[in-house]
Amino acid sequence: MSLFGDPVLHSPCEEVTDFGPALARLVEDMFATMYAAQGVGLAANQIGVGLKVFVYDCPDDDDLRHLGHVVNPVLIEVDGITVRGPEGCLSLPGLEAGTERFDRAVVEGVDIEGNPVRITGTGWFARCLQHECDHLRGTVYTDRLTGLRRARALRAVRRAPWGTG
Ligand SMILES: [Zn+2]
Repeated sequence: MSLFGDPVLHSPCEEVTDFGPALARLVEDMFATMYAAQGVGLAANQIGVGLKVFVYDCPDDDDLRHLGHVVNPVLIEVDGITVRGPEGCLSLPGLEAGTERFDRAVVEGVDIEGNPVRITGTGWFARCLQHECDHLRGTVYTDRLTGLRRARALRAVRRAPWGTG
């Protein structure tokens, strides 16, 4: 797992252009890593691969399960109220901070075979979609924090056993 501070997490990922067997293997690896870490979503750069791919297995606020992957995702729509809720990340293990997200998000992309996919999420799952799209842009949730919340989060990062400070 790539951790906060690793350059691959802080640079934008590249568009996938090769839809060969290596892409299917990458998605399989990502699911295995996400499940092993008991996460609900994982972006490719979290396992050190700078490509625009994420996987998810995440409930929404109605306990409906959403499971899948998306290649070259674009967050095309967000709306609804913004909600500040506790958010964590497998790349910042053990930490959590109240982070603002839109309550509804729509992502478009393709699957490993290049077929178009469109994913609509609300609540917790909308948070997950926005979180993973952020990863592929080279940002993490602490980049969205401001003020005291941000200072507190960065201090916790420095003090973490895996911290960089
Ligand atoms: Zn994350």
